[in-house]
Amino acid sequence: MIKTSKKFENIPPYLFAEIDKKKAAAIAKGLDIINLGIGDPDQPTFPHIVEAMHKAIDNSKNHNYPPYEGTKKFREAVSFWYKKRFDVDLNSDTEVVSLIGSKEGIAHLLSAYIDPGDIVLVPSPGYPVYKMGTILTGGEPFYVPLKAENNFLPDLEAIPVDVAKKAKVFYVNYPNNPTAAIADLDFYKRLVAWAKKYDILIASDLAYSEMTYDNYKAPSILEVEGAKDVAIEFHSLSKSFNMTGWRIGMAVGNKEAISALGVIKTNIDSGIFKAIQDAGVVALTTSTDLIEKNNNLYKERRDVLVKGLNSLGWKLDPIKATFYVWVPVPKGHTSASFCGLVLEETGIVVVPGSGYGPEGEGFFRIALTESTNRIEEALGRLREKNITFN
Ligand SMILES: *Cc1c(COP(=O)(O)O)cnc(C)c1O
Repeated sequence: MIKTSKKFENIPPYLFAEIDKKKAAAIAKGLDIINLGIGDPDQPTFPHIVEAMHKAIDNSKNHNYPPYEGTKKFREAVSFWYKKRFDVDLNSDTEVVSLIGSKEGIAHLLSAYIDPGDIVLVPSPGYPVYKMGTILTGGEPFYVPLKAENNFLPDLEAIPVDVAKKAKVFYVNYPNNPTAAIADLDFYKRLVAWAKKYDILIASDLAYSEMTYDNYKAPSILEVEGAKDVAIEFHSLSKSFNMTGWRIGMAVGNKEAISALGVIKTNIDSGIFKAIQDAGVVALTTSTDLIEKNNNLYKERRDVLVKGLNSLGWKLDPIKATFYVWVPVPKGHTSASFCGLVLEETGIVVVPGSGYGPEGEGFFRIALTESTNRIEEALGRLREKNITFN
């Protein structure tokens, strides 16, 4: 047998593998599955974007290789959107690059910055790609704990100085998956100053900036003066416009980092189908009414879920952003044992927090990806099986 690489051997088992097994068993038993597991919007892409795609696909100019950095029209639409949304100026030629969904950019960035043994600061709990991207480039993840008592923001002063001095990249993600925590501009100001002190590239993952409630508006780190000196920001059309399957996103900000990411990408991929970029232009430059409508739908689900869980003994505040609710597991359970029990007893799929890093242990994540009726049904099943927080 041909031996796989050490990096490959270091890839931990797939987070959803165990859940998938239990899910299959539950289906075989005849249970009706309510899937509140994976973070994938259940609603379709907005119709005017689909319409734009229909037109774009007929245009034969769209059929050949796209420019690796994104079409000029798409990059200009990104600049337009950042100006309109955050009042941030971006040079669409040097400070914007298109991505085949932000996930690949988040992972590929490290190929430009990490040599074997270099440290990457990885939030725990956090989106698994930060850690996996680090392992695959031979870097060392250093877990930065996100604790409930700090509102799931990193305590910068608690990061050991020798680690900070060696670290090259720090991933931050607010509004946050999986905790739904939010960050304000003051946090970003402190983070930018800290990163300048230690020469660390901040990689801000802003995937959920548009999925917000109760008049909360999420800021971009690039609103901080001087942030472009140390920050690259990732955004995606996936969550904002229900476009997860289309694979389109962007990185913006620090021009050396954008250029470096571009060099990696031009050697590995050949960009996004131009028709999809045309549709992306429409998404970024038209009215935001449908985003608001979408958010109202999630807000209704959030209210039903949080109220229902609180009636079962939890003490949760309504989330201000994302479509995740981060919930402590009852005493006597690990994250995995509790999620296993819930699935076996009720057919409800939720994700154990331990899959998001060591500090995720003791929590589970619920995604608001089924209808209000189904969420009510799920709550009824928990009550019936006496699964409570007490
Ligand atoms: C969904 C998500 C993304 C977006 O991924 P795409 O590749 O753009 O679909 C990025 N970061 C986080 C934390 C996410 O949850």
